[in-house]
Amino acid sequence: MGSMDMNRRKLLGIAAAGAAASLIHAPAVAQASPRVVIVGGGFAGATLARTLKKADPRVSITLVESSRTFTACPFSNAVIAGLRDLEAQQFGYDKIVGEGVTLAFETATAVDVGARTVTLAGGVTLAYDRLVLAPGIDIRWNALPGYDQAAARQIPHAWKAGEQTMLLRRQLEAMEDGGVVIISAPANPFRCPPGPYERASLIAYYLKTRKPRSKVIVLDAKDQFSKQKLFVNAWKELYPDHLEWVSLSQGGNVTSVDVAAKTLHTDFGAHKGDVVNVIPPQRAGHVAEVAGVADRSGWCPIDPVTFESKLQPNIHVLGDAAIAGGMPKSAFAANAQGKVCAFALAKLLEGAAAGETKLINTCYSLVAPDYGISVAGVYRPANGTFADVEGSGGVSPLKAPREIRTLEADLANDWFGTITTEVFG
Ligand SMILES: Cc1cc2nc3c(=O)[nH]c(=O)nc-3n(C[C@H](O)[C@H](O)[C@H](O)COP(=O)(O)OP(=O)(O)OC[C@H]3O[C@@H](n4cnc5c(N)ncnc54)[C@H](O)[C@@H]3O)c2cc1C
Repeated sequence: MGSMDMNRRKLLGIAAAGAAASLIHAPAVAQASPRVVIVGGGFAGATLARTLKKADPRVSITLVESSRTFTACPFSNAVIAGLRDLEAQQFGYDKIVGEGVTLAFETATAVDVGARTVTLAGGVTLAYDRLVLAPGIDIRWNALPGYDQAAARQIPHAWKAGEQTMLLRRQLEAMEDGGVVIISAPANPFRCPPGPYERASLIAYYLKTRKPRSKVIVLDAKDQFSKQKLFVNAWKELYPDHLEWVSLSQGGNVTSVDVAAKTLHTDFGAHKGDVVNVIPPQRAGHVAEVAGVADRSGWCPIDPVTFESKLQPNIHVLGDAAIAGGMPKSAFAANAQGKVCAFALAKLLEGAAAGETKLINTCYSLVAPDYGISVAGVYRPANGTFADVEGSGGVSPLKAPREIRTLEADLANDWFGTITTEVFG
């Protein structure tokens, strides 16, 4: 069988009805090799799959992913503001399959930690020596009273990229000039700490350039947020008439959602919008709870050297789902964790100990298409979690000529190209 045929079989076999056969009766060589099952083919899981295969080609890796096309969240705020097409966010898994990873395009629905098996929605059961869960986030429906799945069809969260992103974009496009856009930002922790503020900025850019009598109001459950001074300074300069931020202490904490009235209630009053975007409270992807690796916070405590769950042996948790101390929930961090975990797993599978290492994160945000800012950090394992390496990292200079902001916007674009090529290309 040619390698193309083999790849096709790997890609298609599992999703097809008779898939169980191709999976369970794996070639003899695969049966002898250690089995790693990864649930979630996003920034963390897909990085891990590729890196582990390269680090130890004898490991038999199955990547379980619900969707055949991955839609990336970074830069999805630019899609909402009409600056970019959704297609620019979308990636497939052919290259990963070509490197010898088996893809199962299904949802993992159950984990038997005793038998070390994962069950997929179609009924196939996968045995593992090590299981890695990288499911990203799920929304905590109804944690904000009035905000459930049905509400999200009218008041999008757009915090998972795809149809929700396009729904918010279409609502903005349909809004009359003079309208009010409201964004509610959640308390920590949540996916992409600077994300709500980048979104507000790019929506303000859209309004200023396309619907100048309109404005965007951010109702925030916090008094402080990532890159705050940089954002606030840029807003004063670029969007004094188009963007308003209401902090927790100014009454920004949203306590309930009235979908029919497009109104967000706070302790201090009610805000009616023409377009409303609720970024709701979140938790680790559901499969983490199913596997018993999420604690009462909804997120997953892990060992910072191996990413092994502190609650279940032989299960590792990566990316947004994990509790990673000072490390933010970002694609950059998920990618770094995928690589570190791959090398740790390669060691563990050969019976050796994994060594400590440091991880880097950089989060770029666009305040306008040609105005970028960033925050960077370096983290090391400490006291069972990740701590900042003192003296490392930092944010963009508070005062800088406009060329620096333009350069950072270019760097942000380059970063997206680099990371998505590394993970999917
Ligand atoms: C608006 C916005 C802007 C952002 N901008 C940036 C940015 O500029 N820079 C940055 O670094 N980060 C950014 N992020 C954050 C980034 O998107 C996430 O931190 C990153 O996607 C986390 O990677 P992950 O692998 O943990 O989860 P994901 O990338 O979400 O991948 C999880 C995958 O798991 C799959 N999955 C879940 N459960 C199952 C199951 N049971 N069975 C099978 N498959 C399953 C899902 O389909 C998904 O493909 C942004 C986020 C948002 C919302």
